[in-house]
Amino acid sequence: ASKRPQRPPHSCLRTTSIPLHPAHILPAMSNLPSEPEFEQALHEVESTLAPFFEKYPEYKKAFEIIQIPERIIQFRVVWEDDKHQAQVNRAYRVQYNSALGPYKGGLRLHPTVNLSILKFLGFEQTFKNALTGLSMGGGKGGSDFDPKGKSDAEVRRFVKAFATELSRHIGADTDIPAGDIGFSTREGGFLFGQYKAIRNEWVGMMTGKALDWGGSHVRPEATGYGVVYYVEHMLRAAGEADGFKGKKVAISGSGQVAQWAALKCMELGATVLSFSDSKGALIATGEEGFSKEDVQKIYEIKYARKELETFGDKGGSLKFHKDAARPWKLVPAYDVALPCATQNEMDASDAEEALKRGCRFVAEGSNMGCDQGAIDVMEKSRKTKGKQGCWYGPGKAANSGGVAVSGLEMAQNSQRLQWKPEEVDQKLKDIMLDCYTLCYETGKEFSDGGELPSLCQGANIAGFKKVADACKQ
Ligand code: GLU
Repeated sequence: ASKRPQRPPHSCLRTTSIPLHPAHILPAMSNLPSEPEFEQALHEVESTLAPFFEKYPEYKKAFEIIQIPERIIQFRVVWEDDKHQAQVNRAYRVQYNSALGPYKGGLRLHPTVNLSILKFLGFEQTFKNALTGLSMGGGKGGSDFDPKGKSDAEVRRFVKAFATELSRHIGADTDIPAGDIGFSTREGGFLFGQYKAIRNEWVGMMTGKALDWGGSHVRPEATGYGVVYYVEHMLRAAGEADGFKGKKVAISGSGQVAQWAALKCMELGATVLSFSDSKGALIATGEEGFSKEDVQKIYEIKYARKELETFGDKGGSLKFHKDAARPWKLVPAYDVALPCATQNEMDASDAEEALKRGCRFVAEGSNMGCDQGAIDVMEKSRKTKGKQGCWYGPGKAANSGGVAVSGLEMAQNSQRLQWKPEEVDQKLKDIMLDCYTLCYETGKEFSDGGELPSLCQGANIAGFKKVADACKQ
């Protein structure tokens, strides 16, 4: 019996301190189910808070409190498919923390969705939203419904059924959803329309709306642009006076975040060398990389919900690698890596390989794109080589531009105004600079090892402190 593997403990029942590394090595037992993604995110944050707790031990209790969501709504969605058969899915809304403002965060529609994933996303969102400096609490929701391969009518019937229950729990001053993987403007339109029909009110109860019905300029671009703005600050602080100009960039993913990040990199003079989807990676074989027209073609492929592989090889200058291949070990040389697909897309061996190929700047367009092993590799490089080592921008800071412009969309809806694109873009730039500076300065105060502060530790401590202070007060 002593050899039986122990179930990982649930962190909120823990009494001893958590080691840096995964739950499976911890001995304690728990009466709660294992939640691997949530525990990973929780441990990642907690493992960086030690120096902060040393200085301010009174904050320890706040961490115990904040790690538990304020409320979780779990429900069933029954909908009719095109063959008039009843179908059923599980759906959730995790209302994580409302100290800084109403719950705010996206909806994910993907067959892998479960409570562990939505708790990890809601937990990260809480700190991310704090780092924007706007008045937004944290939340996340979604369903294991898979929009891929469904007709528009099926997606509409699913979302209307989903929205019928969700509309009891959300609202412009309560909880404001938005998109995430599998949930774009089309799904948003069905949600908005159903909420409006049920409640008989036209209010800004979700963001990521289309421009015709209350959306904000630059919202589709915001996450991708924001990541690039964040990395620009990293590059310049590392002494790269030309920023992205002349840099080679490896990107994973091919959805909205990856597309707009790529276009902004190109605009700033960089070469983009890869995209990917769940089936594999499309890699540029020559020096010239992808063009703007290629990104437009990727947009059309993704809009039609087709696979990236259908892009073709563009006369031999692109090669598709199957079997869920990721770019990190395939692009021969690159300076910047932007994981923009989903969680855990870069592990320790990917990070080591990235560093060998010359990569010194990694920033997550996706949430928890790097696993703990990858973070450790980058943090070790930072500690040993300082500013010549690897700079790591964690998702809760680097990809906060998306939710930041969601916050600006909420402000525009309250004003019944629509700001000009240049105005929104300038505000996004200002928010990303403030966010970067806060991470850097907080990292400088608390992180160990040499001349380059940990942006990861800075983001975790600064985000946590803001939420904790608001909760306490
Ligand atoms: N899903 C995005 C994120 O992970 C955006 C959320 C929002 O705009 O509310 O931050």
